[in-house]
This record gives sequence, structure tokens and C-alpha cells, in this order.
Amino acid sequence: MVSGGYPSAHVAPVSRSAERLVLFSMPDGRRRTCRVCGAHDSKVGPISWRGKCGVCGPAIFEANCDDLHYHRGPYLLKWRRGMAQSVGALLVDDVLGDD
Ligand SMILES: [Zn+2]
Repeated sequence: MVSGGYPSAHVAPVSRSAERLVLFSMPDGRRRTCRVCGAHDSKVGPISWRGKCGVCGPAIFEANCDDLHYHRGPYLLKWRRGMAQSVGALLVDDVLGDD
């Protein structure tokens, strides 16, 4: 124990069973339609907890990763706005009205 500080958190090996992993990846059974494309789950399969189908979710994820990697696009702008808002600031683009 280090004097003057808090005791370190107890770190135990984490064991995750296969059932638990499957449980966390279960789709949201209450949703019937994708909130992006509007397709019914009978056509596109299960809808995720975030409300996206198996086509829209990965597509948005990849577009988001590409925008952040290449520093362009709407997802980068959304990220920049969020970062600025987290410290109470605005983007210069938003102040000047240019997108
Ligand atoms: Zn969709």
C-alpha cells in the first residue's frame, strides 16, 4: 500500500463465459424497424439495441472510421462539434455559417 493514497483496486482475472457474451450481443426484440433505412426486421434480420439493422450499423461504423481516419466528411464534423461543445466552445465554421 502506498502511503497517502487510496489502496489500489483489486484486480482479478475476468472470466466471461460464452453465454454471457451472447447475452450482451442479443438484438433488441422490441424493435421492428431499422431507424436508419426503415426496413422491417423480417427483411433485414434482427435490429440492434441502437436501432440499426445488420446492413446500416456496420456501414455507418465503417463510414465513421473512414471519416476520422481521412479527416473529412460529416462524421468528422460531428466529432469536432462534440469535442468543441465538451469544453463549451463552438467551431469557427459554425460561427461563420460555412459548412
Ligand atoms: Zn437499416
